[in-house]
Amino acid sequence: MSKRIVLFGATGSIGESTLKVLRKHPDRLELVGVASNTRYTELSAIAEEFKVPQVCLFDEHAYTQAKTEGYFPQATLSQGFEGLEALATLPEADLVVMAMDGTNGIRPTLAALNAGKEVALASKEVLVLAGEFVMEAARKNNTKLLPLDSEHNAIFQCLEGHPTQQVDKVILTASGGPFRDYTWEQMHSVTPQQALKHPNWDMGPKNTLDSATMANKGLELIEAHWLFGTPANKLEVLVNPTSAVHGLVTFVDGSILAHLSPASMTFPIQNSLLYPDRAASVYPTFDFSQGMSIELYPPDLTRFPCLKLAMEALEAGGIAPTLFNAANEVAVKAFVDTNIAFTDIPKIIEKTLDTMPNSDPSSIEALLEINQEALALASTFITPTPIPTA
Ligand code: MG
Repeated sequence: MSKRIVLFGATGSIGESTLKVLRKHPDRLELVGVASNTRYTELSAIAEEFKVPQVCLFDEHAYTQAKTEGYFPQATLSQGFEGLEALATLPEADLVVMAMDGTNGIRPTLAALNAGKEVALASKEVLVLAGEFVMEAARKNNTKLLPLDSEHNAIFQCLEGHPTQQVDKVILTASGGPFRDYTWEQMHSVTPQQALKHPNWDMGPKNTLDSATMANKGLELIEAHWLFGTPANKLEVLVNPTSAVHGLVTFVDGSILAHLSPASMTFPIQNSLLYPDRAASVYPTFDFSQGMSIELYPPDLTRFPCLKLAMEALEAGGIAPTLFNAANEVAVKAFVDTNIAFTDIPKIIEKTLDTMPNSDPSSIEALLEINQEALALASTFITPTPIPTA
């Protein structure tokens, strides 16, 4: 029997890789629902190809346009949070793939878990902001949260079958991004175009930029903390410039398990979608006939202060990870709009974390409100300065 999938963020980069996996395994995986924020023409092509009966366009304007222009003649079309939640709880769905950008993924993820669905999670914000609520919902409903991100999927595979007390360290790898070998001075004058060129991975623009500052790895540490219940002092990062090793687990007896695969998201996505089964991959895996060397070294937190700030936010707990994420979002946008320098990004984050007092919000609503406040506060720290041209 095939697994029935609902895909949130179908028109994004993760969505695209997910569709490749679905095309490879039409006998095992069936697409029963898709959602996108605004891109209705792309979404309609997907709905047609996979004959998807349930479609949601989150954005009201896009929804109205699509309706007026006669898109999705064969499907039931919905919009907004109501539409997302209806899709997340579709009675016929077995697994929800959450790959929507931003905080919009939080509510449908909780709805899916509360409906007893398995969730394969790619959206960083869901765990960074609402980790405690999301993990609690998965526990309460006795369902699984499967990590779809490459690092977390790697660690998930390494940890499987090993009791927590045997684990000494959980190690996420990072490529180091396009500025891995730049000095701080060199980083001062980099342009958004340079930052958007990732050496190994093909990802969405926000993730690519977050890789350049290594904020991405910081957010992933926070996610790993929630997913695996690993305390901050047992979480580490190592740079692997070729993105061949995605995660490692060190055990108390000194043994280390590592996960390797080529740098394509189809590998972790397929692992999540078919879990606990395995089948032939979309792309061929490594060929060792020409040999392969693996380089691993610790990151330089002085040149990549965003990673250090994320580690501190994780240790502080409470709303600190939410503040980190919100301030980073604002700072990255300001850099892309050429209002601040690349090296100003960590400064905006630090100011935001230093200004807003930490607290422990009791609800998702309170948390989302704090997120809005943090976005507004971080924006006040953006003071456009002339950017040196590279
Ligand atoms: Mg990742």
